[in-house]
Amino acid sequence: MRVVFVDRDGVINLNRKDHVKSWEEFVFLPRAVEALAQLTRHGFRTIVVTNQAVVNRGIISREKVDEINARMVAALNAAGAKVEGVFCCPHRPDEGCSCRKPRPGLLLEAARKLGVDLTRSYMVGDTLGDLAAGRLAGCRPVLVLTGRGTSQFLSGEARHRQGYMVSRDLWHAVRRILVLGGLVKPGWLEAARFRVSTPFPIAGTGVSSINTGIDALAGDPRTAG
Ligand SMILES: [Mg+2]
Ligand SMILES: [Zn+2]
Repeated sequence: MRVVFVDRDGVINLNRKDHVKSWEEFVFLPRAVEALAQLTRHGFRTIVVTNQAVVNRGIISREKVDEINARMVAALNAAGAKVEGVFCCPHRPDEGCSCRKPRPGLLLEAARKLGVDLTRSYMVGDTLGDLAAGRLAGCRPVLVLTGRGTSQFLSGEARHRQGYMVSRDLWHAVRRILVLGGLVKPGWLEAARFRVSTPFPIAGTGVSSINTGIDALAGDPRTAG
């Protein structure tokens, strides 16, 4: 099956500097639920992959994180957005685990357990670490500009990297994935944006459709080319 792996904080829900510690602090981003419901309607599976170092930092318990995720999944299911699974890394960066993004462990585990065709799948996230994990797992990476996305996109590090798509938020990322998959027809404005933003395949990335942020920043001279 083909899947859209989705990061949680900053993509599905509002990123909090002090972390989401309870369901009361979990706030869905605009149109995120609708975006995931669209994926379900068009036959894409959704898997959430999230770093939660708050667990091993002792800020909240694993049970609490699992409860928040379960409530998120219940709310999404109720809105017609089916989630196949939530895969969560509880480790701190210094523990050197293989599952914390930018490592691809969570995606590979999900692929093994659920039978995911990684090369036909996408990873949508708001950090360069999400993109790296997606790429290492063999998926097509998509950066969204919600959460930490904009600052990550404008960072020096991001400028030297290519081979990922950029969308302003999860809803736009989903639209684009569906258009690329031939599942929906683009509107004229989308068609125009996608055309400018799909110039060349980038060697070695295995990604056939690339841009440099134009979906979100069309006409912005800073991102031209
Ligand atoms: Mg995030
Ligand atoms: Zn881990």
